[in-house]
Amino acid sequence: MTEKPRLSARIAAIAESATLKVDAKAKALQAEGRPVISYAAGEPDFATPEYIVEAALAATRDPRNYRYTPAAGLPELREAVAAKTLRDSGLEVGAGQVVVTNGGKQAVYQAFQVLLDEGDEVLVPTPYWTTYPEAIKLAGGRQVDVFAGADQGYLVTIEQLEAARTDRTKVLLFVSPSNPTGAVYAPEQVKAIGEWALEHGIWVVSDEIYQNLTYADDEDGVPPRAVSIVEAVPELANQAILVNGVAKTYAMTGWRLGWMVGPNDVIRGAANLQSHLSSNVSNISQRAAIAALTGPQDAVEEMRRAFDRRRRTIVAELSKIEGVTVPVPQGAFYVYPDVSGLLGREWGGATPATSLELADLMLEQAEVAAVPGEAFGPSGYLRLSYALGDGPLLEGIQRLQRLFG
Ligand code: GLU
Repeated sequence: MTEKPRLSARIAAIAESATLKVDAKAKALQAEGRPVISYAAGEPDFATPEYIVEAALAATRDPRNYRYTPAAGLPELREAVAAKTLRDSGLEVGAGQVVVTNGGKQAVYQAFQVLLDEGDEVLVPTPYWTTYPEAIKLAGGRQVDVFAGADQGYLVTIEQLEAARTDRTKVLLFVSPSNPTGAVYAPEQVKAIGEWALEHGIWVVSDEIYQNLTYADDEDGVPPRAVSIVEAVPELANQAILVNGVAKTYAMTGWRLGWMVGPNDVIRGAANLQSHLSSNVSNISQRAAIAALTGPQDAVEEMRRAFDRRRRTIVAELSKIEGVTVPVPQGAFYVYPDVSGLLGREWGGATPATSLELADLMLEQAEVAAVPGEAFGPSGYLRLSYALGDGPLLEGIQRLQRLFG
């Protein structure tokens, strides 16, 4: 009798989230007392602003929050998300076009579940965030990488997209500001890509989780707007899903509160799926998110300024290491240096051939954690989050300067 595999082929084919894995390893070493400095997870070091925490505390005393609420989200939160979508993405939607999810990650998962059939192709600008490939695979989709390296500012062109398009292309994934590269598409580039998608009847899944975190070239300049693809090309609204959440903008990663916005049929499908998968997101987190979106936004600007300061520090200090090329990120809170110049050389008795080996060596010899490029596409890069305190941020890079000096 042939034994049946213990795990389904579907689950056996996916790997643990690389970003969470490196983060967990760094945190475990820190818990053992090792002075590890971690640039691993994209997680603001700030406390959630007080007015949001207060709203959550009040919510714990309100019995309305002790029971099931609609799977797609509290009506007041769906309204607040609709207002935020108009404010920041320039798209007018009804509250019924919003599903509140357990973090942006669940919105990504559901977007692909709703859109893809077996063998449908998704164009994925590469480097890409580590979770997209697995969410696409779990929906039966086929990922088609469209690679844009540091030489083109990590921004894909229409020519590249067109070369990758086939009869099976159903979706374009669009992420600006990008995780992992921090690249932000200029408004005219967004418009051109949106028009191309519209012309070819291609859906767009636009991950906008970093849309409020952009930075000007000059310290006191006005930060560029990350223009939403549906604002650039409003006719695209009927074939676009926007993914977003409070995690990055409001220092709320642990509250698990995201959402998706889209056309009615897609949102109905996603809400049906969620009604079987997880039901409503914790009402306490939803009440906190209402406060976040409708309350004063000064804390957001303060955090953004701190990220900008750290961005300048990390770019300047990393650039001092010979063999490291550091494109200047314009958004999110990641820097994505090309480290191929460090590979194949001997450092402290080891000769790393890949960025995976380089990241291991950095952790062992300098107690510095970063996510290797392999988690996001090709080898030869590292992702460093600069959402950590100014002191450790500088010290960690100085350790690398000594290691690779
Ligand atoms: N999105 C963040 C990151 O890329 C959080 C970790 C994760 O969910 O992957 O680091």
